[in-house]
Amino acid sequence: MAGSGKTTFVQRLAAHLHGQRCPPYVINLDPAVHSLPFPANIGECCVLRDGGARAGGAAWSPPGESRYGLGPNGGIVTSLNLFATRFDQVMKFIEKRQNASKYVIIDTPGQIEVFTWSASGTIITEALASSFPSVVVYVMDTSRSTNPITFMSNMLYACSILYKTKLPFIVVMNKTDIIDHSFAVEWMQDFETFQDALNQETSYVSNLTRSMSLVNSFSYSPVLVVGVSAVLGTGLDEFFIQLSKAVDEYEREYRPEYERLR
Ligand code: GDP
Ligand code: MG
Repeated sequence: MAGSGKTTFVQRLAAHLHGQRCPPYVINLDPAVHSLPFPANIGECCVLRDGGARAGGAAWSPPGESRYGLGPNGGIVTSLNLFATRFDQVMKFIEKRQNASKYVIIDTPGQIEVFTWSASGTIITEALASSFPSVVVYVMDTSRSTNPITFMSNMLYACSILYKTKLPFIVVMNKTDIIDHSFAVEWMQDFETFQDALNQETSYVSNLTRSMSLVNSFSYSPVLVVGVSAVLGTGLDEFFIQLSKAVDEYEREYRPEYERLR
């Protein structure tokens, strides 16, 4: 979701990997970003913007808006569509960089309709997942998920992405400098604790949430969870442990499937 800290987390991961002499390849897919806090290898607008190319953090106006006469949302969707038409080139860049960069980090737009449920988002995700071990990292704002109903909304959002991409999935509970994520882990793992929290609420929405949570139980799912603070840089070691588990899962479950389809 917007504001959960995706961009800050990308920045933190990139800095961490640079520190380990393992520089990542960073791609920004969020056309709504005006300036990037991290140096991107490929910026969304390099193929899109009206007034020339940009690779990295220079300011620019939302592409598509002026040239195609679109509003902000249409501009964002159109940008990503145009980017998807050139994604074969991005794939080639990534292939070339395989020896130099162990990790490719892709920052995506938070709006679910722009990336997860769009044709171009699907094309990009499938192109990546059919060639490289790919993992979805869902960044959530822990400090804004302390209400059980908000928490469940956030988990449904995560589920939607999980079901659409069908890829190994890590839930990054961000902003643990504000609040420890243990309450959220407990809610995910222990259904009764979550019910108890919900019982404090007496509204239609809480009843709905109660019945949804039955089918939405994460405790049996292979979803990996890690608490981090993108601002402080805590939790990154644990994140990389979970990431390698997710990559194992990719190799075990997904790679054979893609090879079968080839
Ligand atoms: P995005 O929309 O998901 O890319 O979110 P941003 O990375 O732009 O972050 C949104 C806001 O949350 C910014 O004001 C960040 O400084 C803040 N933020 C991001 N990560 C953290 C964190 O770990 N702790 C705290 N306290 N704030 C954070
Ligand atoms: Mg962002």
